[in-house]
Amino acid sequence: MTGLDGARDQFGRRIEYLRISVTDRCNFRCLYCMPPEGLTWLPKSDILSYEEIADVVQQLAPLGLRRVRITGGEPTIRPDLVRLVAMLRAVPAVEDIALSTNGVRMRELAGPLHEAGLDRVNMSADSLRPERIARIARRDLGFDPVVAALAAERVGLAPIKINVVVMRGINDDEIEDFARLTERNPWHVRFIELMPVGDMRALTWEHVVASDEVLDRIGRLGALTPTAGPARGNGPAAYYRLAGAAGTIGVITPMTHTYCASCNRVRLTADGRLRTCLFGDHEVDLRTPLRAGEPLAPRFHDALANKPREHELLQMRVGGLRALSQVGG
Ligand code: SAM
Ligand code: SF4
Repeated sequence: MTGLDGARDQFGRRIEYLRISVTDRCNFRCLYCMPPEGLTWLPKSDILSYEEIADVVQQLAPLGLRRVRITGGEPTIRPDLVRLVAMLRAVPAVEDIALSTNGVRMRELAGPLHEAGLDRVNMSADSLRPERIARIARRDLGFDPVVAALAAERVGLAPIKINVVVMRGINDDEIEDFARLTERNPWHVRFIELMPVGDMRALTWEHVVASDEVLDRIGRLGALTPTAGPARGNGPAAYYRLAGAAGTIGVITPMTHTYCASCNRVRLTADGRLRTCLFGDHEVDLRTPLRAGEPLAPRFHDALANKPREHELLQMRVGGLRALSQVGG
């Protein structure tokens, strides 16, 4: 299981990518992710320190870990995130460090994060209209996602990926506007199918828009051809390009197509549990052995031996699934 070939799970998938949640808290309350009043936050003492997170990464690196993504909750609201990035950059085996963010603090943090060793960012943006951004995020923080993406691009955090969760009747009239962003900007705009997880009080299955419909609509703007995705960080998205466009359009289809067969990732929750699938309860506690000074490799191998073949959304067993902010979505 170890060695140059890296760690493999019970189905032979090579696991080289860790998504690290640094907080379950957020400065937004997106309709599809959190209720307006927030969630029951983890106590601070349960949350891994930056030193503990770096320790996990150092111990998993010899087992084949090559890429990490910092996520949450909203990672940029945890104080001194720049320090964590520098600590992860110091692990020689880690080839790629990415950040998932809502972009609110991008203008002030892009430079320091890049200097500390961050390679690139994925930004969430569900609307380009200020009043609608505030309505979907249930917070009016007066920020502009395009300005935030430009700030990240300016300091060299590339490629820029922009994630749009499409919701019928809420933002699906902006699909074309988002697609047009790729005409001039070398950005990768990815449309994500809404997943019925966490607190969906505000949304129902009727808000789900299948990616095939998204592509049909964009195809009416001009010729849309399949293309290779960004050079780095190819995940579950399928990519297309509008004729002559600088950037690409991606679709991520958790609801209508499975990409579990090529899954290469596991997740570390903010309180130190290793989750082998975004959905379901497949997780192993790493915090207890970490704080007891015990090696993590046996736990990692146990976790991989139980990584499920595919996620349970496909079987429509969705009851009780937690919000993505709680599992490092
Ligand atoms: N706060 C950061 C952000 O919003 O990018 C990182 C964490 S957020 C949980 C990670 C991604 O999950 C975002 O792109 C968000 O849009 C997506 N997400 C959260 N809940 C979702 C849902 N119910 N369906 C589809 N995507 C969801
Ligand atoms: Fe916060 Fe991201 Fe969830 Fe929105 S999707 S509430 S920004 S964690």
